[in-house]
Amino acid sequence: MSGFDAPHCGSLRADDAAREVDLYGWVARRRDHGGLIFIDLRDRWGPVQVVFNPAEAPEAHAAASELRAEYVVHVRGCVQRRPAGSENPALGTGEVEVMAGALEVLSPSRTPPIPVDDEREAEETARLKYRYLDLRRPRMQRILEIRHRVNKITHTYFDENEFIEVETPILTKSTPEGARDFLVPSRLHQGKFYALPQSPQQLKQLLMVAGIGRYYQIARCLRDEDLRADRAAEFTQLDVEMSFCEEEDVFRLLEGWLSRLWAEILGVEIPIPWPRLTMKEALLRYGTDKPDLRFELEIADLGEALAGTQAQVFRAALDSGGVVRGLAVPGGRDMKRRELDELVIMARGAGGKGLAWLPGGPLDKFLSEGEVEAIRRATGAGPDDLVLVAADRRRRAEKVMGLVRSEIGRRRGLVREGEWRFLWIYPMQLFEEDDDGNLTYGHHPFTRPIEDDLPLIDERPYDVRAHAYDIVCNGYELASGSLRIYDRDLQERVFEILGLDRETILARFGHLLEAFEYGVPPHGGIAPGLDRIVMLLAGTDNIRDVIAFPKTQSMVDLMMDAPSPVDPGQLEELGIQLKPQRNKS
Ligand code: ASP
Repeated sequence: MSGFDAPHCGSLRADDAAREVDLYGWVARRRDHGGLIFIDLRDRWGPVQVVFNPAEAPEAHAAASELRAEYVVHVRGCVQRRPAGSENPALGTGEVEVMAGALEVLSPSRTPPIPVDDEREAEETARLKYRYLDLRRPRMQRILEIRHRVNKITHTYFDENEFIEVETPILTKSTPEGARDFLVPSRLHQGKFYALPQSPQQLKQLLMVAGIGRYYQIARCLRDEDLRADRAAEFTQLDVEMSFCEEEDVFRLLEGWLSRLWAEILGVEIPIPWPRLTMKEALLRYGTDKPDLRFELEIADLGEALAGTQAQVFRAALDSGGVVRGLAVPGGRDMKRRELDELVIMARGAGGKGLAWLPGGPLDKFLSEGEVEAIRRATGAGPDDLVLVAADRRRRAEKVMGLVRSEIGRRRGLVREGEWRFLWIYPMQLFEEDDDGNLTYGHHPFTRPIEDDLPLIDERPYDVRAHAYDIVCNGYELASGSLRIYDRDLQERVFEILGLDRETILARFGHLLEAFEYGVPPHGGIAPGLDRIVMLLAGTDNIRDVIAFPKTQSMVDLMMDAPSPVDPGQLEELGIQLKPQRNKS
């Protein structure tokens, strides 16, 4: 008996009426109705109602009374239209039912530890432990299908544009993307380690040196970093690299791809080209490099309005090279003190000094009428609006105002749900300050500086802009990319500015620098995060929902129980001896 070519439960329609069918699926629900037994039989295509009538098929009916949720069964029966009035328009199969003639139980099920339906959602640890049951839910199956369609459209699109997919190794050498590496010990070369790829960055550049011209890969990337709701340690990128290109080529290609995904999967037309914001502008106006443009609120710099101020907090910030930034909350004068206090706590939580507001705040008496007026003008505040103000070092003030802006947008219902606001952040800065105030790369060390800014590279590195861009949509960063350095000397200089000494440069990147001596096409690329894109398309804000077998926030696979201890013999072969405390967890 093969059920492989049998009709799908969820695909039966009114014009299948009178058809004899074999159906295979899971019992989603059983209802006994004085004599008749109804079951919803479910497969990936959806449920269909099956009826067991004791008068017509006594044996099948008797067997059906033993059925329980999640039994796998084979039903033979006849499709018929449901009696008038009992149709269910909410179901694809709602106009029909299958009158069962025979029933065979292929596999029974214990009572499932989590509900296998979309009405009730179990707690996430239980969902992850019993992922195979969680994935049986229609919602999760739909997400996996969306993910599959994203991959399929992607292959077609990039193939149409003459890209070829090239696989790159999983066991490789460290390539910096700003995270910790996952390391794999080598058995054959004891004491040495492979790194799992944080991205195929260097390899795709080497493919350009190899003359491939247009490369893409749906690539797994691994970064041992702290996880967030929209970030997984093991994730999938659409990795893209192309030769002889400018930014505009990358922009056009990616706009075409994402708008095709939105059109084909959601039936939504995304207007292209997308707006562009420089990174500086994004940070100033929205306090973040991934602004959500579904609401208008904009942050204003109050440096000019407060240039001559005597108010101590503002004076101190401005005199020490910091900034004062303000945001008008439309109709915000109705905000309660408690709400404002919560915002202050949030600002402090983000490392900021606090938050002032006017009118009605503690600073009122320190500001002249002219200053208040200038603040209103700069922020565009009307008579009913409240102005929130932060004074701090630039980075911190931006961070605080960015958080406040999102919070206000959310709390006051300003976010226009259902809208898709794609944009490019371009150009970005070549270098950034890390959390300890040290210079680090903005994108990654292979990013090409904008030629006009090169003379600044030693004296004012933070002012150097890069041929680097991000795609942002609705507050999510969906992709990062750049044109790359293809000149050995410049690449070495950038490594040096990043604080690497010659020895380290050669040990870590000697292969790339050497390759740059054998004819390198100017090249560039980008790498959209597919998990996040599927998140948006599927309408979830939990990245684990779009990964079939995800790990928890603390990097545990609850279903397979990984990581787990290994045999002492395996460690012996690898030449690894564990420190005692390492064994405990
Ligand atoms: N390798 C980069 C990343 O993973 C993307 C790129 O520059 O193409 O973010």
